Amino acid sequence: MTDSSATATHCPYCSLQCGMRLSGGAAPQVRERADFPVNRGALCGKGQHAAALLAPAARLTTPLMRDRGELRSVSWAVALDRVAAGLSAVRAEHGADAVGVFGGGGLTNEKAYQLGKFARAALGTASIDYNGRFCMSSAAAANRLAFGLDRGLPFPLADIPHTGCLILVGANPAETMPPALRYFREVREDGGTLIVVDPRRTRTAEQADLHLQPLPGTDLALALGLLHVLIADGLVDAEFVAARTTGFARARAAAMAHWPERVERITGVPVAQLRLAAHHFGRARTGMVLSARGPEQQSKGTDTVGAWINLCLATGKAGRPHSGYGCLTGQGNGQGGREHGQKADQLPGYRSIEDPAARAHVAAVWGVAPEALPRSGRTAYELLDSLGRSGPEGVRALLVMGSNPVVSAPRAAHVTARLRALDLLVVSDVVLSETAQLADVVLPSTQWAEETGTLTNVEGRVVLRQQATAPPPEVRSDLWILRELAERLGGEGDGGQHPVTRVRFDDDPEAVFAELRRASAGGQADYAGISYDRIRAEDGVFWPCPSEEHPGTPRLFLDSFATPDGRARFAAVGHRPAAEEPDAEYPLYLTTGRVLAQYQSGAQTRRVTALTDAVPGPFVELHPRLAARLGVAEGAPLAVVSRRGRAVAPARITEAIRPDTVFMPFHWPGPGRANTVTNPALDPTSKMPEFKVCAVRLEALQGERERVAGSGERI
Ligand code: SF4
Repeated sequence: MTDSSATATHCPYCSLQCGMRLSGGAAPQVRERADFPVNRGALCGKGQHAAALLAPAARLTTPLMRDRGELRSVSWAVALDRVAAGLSAVRAEHGADAVGVFGGGGLTNEKAYQLGKFARAALGTASIDYNGRFCMSSAAAANRLAFGLDRGLPFPLADIPHTGCLILVGANPAETMPPALRYFREVREDGGTLIVVDPRRTRTAEQADLHLQPLPGTDLALALGLLHVLIADGLVDAEFVAARTTGFARARAAAMAHWPERVERITGVPVAQLRLAAHHFGRARTGMVLSARGPEQQSKGTDTVGAWINLCLATGKAGRPHSGYGCLTGQGNGQGGREHGQKADQLPGYRSIEDPAARAHVAAVWGVAPEALPRSGRTAYELLDSLGRSGPEGVRALLVMGSNPVVSAPRAAHVTARLRALDLLVVSDVVLSETAQLADVVLPSTQWAEETGTLTNVEGRVVLRQQATAPPPEVRSDLWILRELAERLGGEGDGGQHPVTRVRFDDDPEAVFAELRRASAGGQADYAGISYDRIRAEDGVFWPCPSEEHPGTPRLFLDSFATPDGRARFAAVGHRPAAEEPDAEYPLYLTTGRVLAQYQSGAQTRRVTALTDAVPGPFVELHPRLAARLGVAEGAPLAVVSRRGRAVAPARITEAIRPDTVFMPFHWPGPGRANTVTNPALDPTSKMPEFKVCAVRLEALQGERERVAGSGERI
């Protein structure tokens, strides 16, 4: 139903940032917004039920502070004074870097920007990173290496139906962003070919012309094998390679060492399917490769994505219309969240924090001396692993904003123990997440429909989420919280090591965005020409957009790539195994992922009845042959055991998965927490943990069916 009086805004969840309308009043309702071009009115169940999050019963409504072991309501003044005093005490005793900040890929651009500024200019700490490191960092690194620039998609979604061959690698948009599936279906309707690469026969794979089902962790070998066939069968675009790329000779040498029969042995993908996929892609006039977390969340994620980009470069399917490589970002602001300064090594505008010119530019916007800005800090898992430790490497106090690492971090029991070891844990969130339950102070913050701010969707389109309803009276915006804390912390410093000065922190989102525009000006992610008014008028603006006269940039690289010489660079990469391969003790692969009705750590969606009714708890997906071997029936409790711990959930038996692999969704805490088991082995470049593959064994349990049913248990 269309309701033109409702406020035009966007969904609180994934990177598609579907347009919707929200009616105001005591019980807001989500309405369709058919005029927004990305989703044209379509919403998945998460978006349709998003208004349930606004009910006071679902969310935090007052600040909480731990008192004799219990979290109790306190005033904002008491909570903020406690936080500021605690952060100051840690800074004075252990130095500025002992205060950590952990952000989120769901924060608006304004919040992500302000959080990075708060860490560097108010706290003077290098210890800041965010959960987006666990999401798209390998694709970001590979994009920068190949093209000199990282944007999720270098073209609008509307270009996808016009491509001749689309390869989706480790992506399951049928569950993660269903309204986008229409674009992929239209590839086939338009006469193109859809190829899906996934160890599971997902709902997305069921739509494909060809489904390649490799072993988890072998996508790199598969890409090398495809390049081998392209070269051997004369499907390389030599003219494009010569004119617009560098490094082909080394990539070719690596690919020639991965002949089809060898690749079949590594991946399990039959030679005939490998050849068929290569021929479809190589012979199509245009083509795209889109990856998601499958190839990216590996300890060789950067190399793996580089190998898939190589296919586009070798066949001339990059920097041309209806062709190219793209990454389907995950979190709501997975793109913008990585551009404006909450990453350990970045300043706003995608600038490097180690670049003297970048430091000078941003320092001038902030009104501080460049030498006052810290250098690069530790990345997300390294930061979490350092919590509560003594000595110069230890982070003793942590501010978490919009993230739930107790559920979403790898080796989660260890991360939970590190969080418990902190001198001070402060969590700003909408709900009492599992991480907030451990906090000393919990700050209730406004959420999507209660505040205004920009997000940058999977296409690089900057959209405006407009406030549609008032927050509960004792709830404040993150921008207000940061301003209040900065005022309390201002000018104290840490004995001269990191002098900090009083810096202005606005709490009006449009004012913060105006400052972000100045800070990003001249950077790769240049927002200088984007304004709230333009976004409203144009259904979003694509960055880079360096001036108000500039039309924005829906399509990148058509003239040249963003490297110093304008050429794209081939990755010279070879296959290597996952950090942990099955053995006699742990004979199976575990891979993890998402389900349609839940979102990321589930902190929000597990509070929405319609969504929890659809999928009430975790499960272990396994093949009927494996189930028969173990004597396991549908719904029987199973323990998934790795070197890091054990997760328990009911069996779900399906032929959609390989017999040597089991799958768990990662949205739940408690005994069914999949990330208790996952491996924190890091990619050396992106520092992405290896969520997608580790070695496990299954144990059939007796008498635990009731205990695990629904798995509503807390940590
Ligand atoms: Fe929201 Fe993503 Fe669903 Fe769209 S696809 S309604 S943005 S969760």
